[in-house]
Amino acid sequence: MASRPDFEAQRSITPLPVLLTVDTVSDSIMKLDGKKALVFGVASEDSIAYAICQRLAQAGCSLILGFQPRFRSRIQQLVATLPEGTELHPIDVNVEGSTASFFESWQANSPGAKADIIVHAIGFAPREAFDRNLLFVDMEPMDVALRISAHSLQGIVRHALPHLAPNSSTITLTYAASTRHVPSYGLMSVAKAALEAWVREIAARLGPDGHRVNAISAGPIRTLAASGIPGFDGILAHVERNAPLRRNVDQMDVAGTAAWLASPLSSGVTAQIIHVDAGYSSTMVPDDISE
Ligand code: NAD
Repeated sequence: MASRPDFEAQRSITPLPVLLTVDTVSDSIMKLDGKKALVFGVASEDSIAYAICQRLAQAGCSLILGFQPRFRSRIQQLVATLPEGTELHPIDVNVEGSTASFFESWQANSPGAKADIIVHAIGFAPREAFDRNLLFVDMEPMDVALRISAHSLQGIVRHALPHLAPNSSTITLTYAASTRHVPSYGLMSVAKAALEAWVREIAARLGPDGHRVNAISAGPIRTLAASGIPGFDGILAHVERNAPLRRNVDQMDVAGTAAWLASPLSSGVTAQIIHVDAGYSSTMVPDDISE
């Protein structure tokens, strides 16, 4: 019978020297100088999109932020922490004509500017979509959740088309409840499934012209949007106990992958849903079942 590997002995082996640290990678390879990113979804310093802005700016990218008007004063404070010249334009994807106005406003301010990167980090569902049994949610809240959280990707990309730089990269944010039942995620699971279908469909249509579209499926992270999900603290604790990395991810984990997707390092990647979740989505029966 083959002997069991000696894990304790393996743990004591001197680790190999680290060739590249995260800082070396960002300094030496992740150069996005001269690139322009349209970023939708910054509402607070906890927003995943805010971390993505910081990461992109660190790589030399300039930023054009589309902000929801109700967050105007917070955004005006946050923009002081982003590179000089960061543009701000309002957008409410639930309001007819607002996406078109965003692009008009941007182009009026920067005539002929082109976008290399689009970050779509927009999500919302009315309270009823979480509180009611999903079978009894009415059509109106369903429309709102799908329009804002899924179909807005199509609207933004469509309006961006005339202003896309060659080989652009679009990145959206999704969650694994798109393919598996998560109690309390309610209607957002349906919206995320639709969003992921949009990623594949838009990628198929833009791919022949060299543009890429991908989604990052993030593990749970404490943000404004997440605060509306009942039982969220329980989900965080469960993931920390059971994810292969035995931790939750944070905004910068997601931002690192977003910067990679934004860069030519990911030039062969499109139409994908990439999990940044400490490996949790690879598990089925949780390790803590035996505790
Ligand atoms: P957040 O609250 O900081 O961001 C949500 C953003 O959506 C806000 O900036 C808000 O202004 C914007 N938004 C909502 N309705 C809008 C509208 N009508 N028009 C324009 N913008 C609108 O929270 P977050 O967690 O950073 O969310 C960003 C994305 O990441 C969302 O799509 C969310 O579903 C997704 N996501 C979050 C988690 C998590 O655990 N936080 C996990 C996986 C995926």
